[in-house]
Amino acid sequence: SENRTMHINADKSPLQVFVRAKKKINDIYVEIEEYVAETTTFINALHAEAEIVDKAERELFESYVLKVAGIREVLARDHMKVAFFGRTSNGKSSVINAMLREKILPSGIGHTTNCFCQVEGSDSSEAYLMKEGSEEKLNVVNIKQLANALCQEKLSESSLVRIFWPRERCNLLRDDVVFVDSPGVDVSANLDDWIDNHCLNADVFVLVLNAESTMTRAEKQFFHTVSQKLSKPNIFILNNRWDASANEPESQESVRSQHTERCIDFLTKELKVTNEKEAAERVFFVSAREALQARIEEAKGNSPSQGAIAEGFHARYFEFQDFERKFEECISKSAVQTKFEKHSSRGKTLSGDMRSMLDNIYERITIFRNLKLDQKTLLSERIQGTETEMMNVTREMKLKIHNMVEEVEQKVSKALNEEI
Ligand code: GDP
Repeated sequence: SENRTMHINADKSPLQVFVRAKKKINDIYVEIEEYVAETTTFINALHAEAEIVDKAERELFESYVLKVAGIREVLARDHMKVAFFGRTSNGKSSVINAMLREKILPSGIGHTTNCFCQVEGSDSSEAYLMKEGSEEKLNVVNIKQLANALCQEKLSESSLVRIFWPRERCNLLRDDVVFVDSPGVDVSANLDDWIDNHCLNADVFVLVLNAESTMTRAEKQFFHTVSQKLSKPNIFILNNRWDASANEPESQESVRSQHTERCIDFLTKELKVTNEKEAAERVFFVSAREALQARIEEAKGNSPSQGAIAEGFHARYFEFQDFERKFEECISKSAVQTKFEKHSSRGKTLSGDMRSMLDNIYERITIFRNLKLDQKTLLSERIQGTETEMMNVTREMKLKIHNMVEEVEQKVSKALNEEI
């Protein structure tokens, strides 16, 4: 029943917005692909039968087949990407693990990873990892081994290790969310390379701060650079290790409001990526370690509060879940917009091009036919018959494509409007 609850909840997840939109756009492309294949057969036949379609046109049409296949391939790989930043030991790996509900990434002293780690879903039932530039699938038996693999390797700091984790073990992975953990912003000198190599296609950025200290210059600088390269990146700020504030209840409120104000100012006045109202929905006070422990208890069938570290567990756990909800809404919306709008406008252009090409062919056949009719005496009945047939078929094809273009336009706008 644990599994069932997980699935019922998953279907209410805002991530489904992305999952559904992806399916719809894919279905539309399946249709376009069918039309293109049918039209290609027709064009090739025309080319073989008469000189109405020339070689260049035929080749052009075949390039549409490749284009459609190319778009479908990109579409199949499209996912939602979230990248985590902050100083080492602020709890980036712990946040990711808590969201994945399992200890996947190694965390803690001595396990500082000095490269990028990406966790993504895989259809295989075994976890494995792949290093950049290699196709070899390395088995991951346990966390310790994974940690060693990450530490011992002399990996350059902007290289990427991809961890493939069974989709069936986590809803976020099942729904195509990809997590990227970064080396601490304090240990790197190559922020620019990082951003270019790993961040430009992220839909959401999460800055993990330590609530026990203030935001550092390095942490700020990183996001200044990001926002110069990307227009209005979606940034969430987690003030982590909030469990520590339970030790000082008298100053808890003032610390919280001070941090909140600074974070909001950073997003609105410094980076200018959002307004006050939205920024207030992007700043959270959480304990990642506690949230992870709570989830591990839950998976064992225990009460999540058994994972509590300090007084005030319920409020912190609630805030973590609130963050997850807002994060899911934001990432799916952003990914639908940035990824699928491009595909649908390309789909429209493509079908529009095919339409004008067929219109053109049709027109040529008409002229050709009238010309031949003028020289009626020269034509045998058989040839006349063939041409009439050809015209009918072309007219039919033309209508089909016209209808397809309209259908594609309607479906695409509908799919996008429904989801956004
Ligand atoms: P990273 O270097 O940013 O990935 O940080 P890690 O996730 O590896 O965390 C560093 C250490 O801090 C680990 O020992 C974690 O268990 C601990 N830690 C992470 N988040 C919290 C938290 O919210 N509260 C407490 N008390 N410890 C935490």
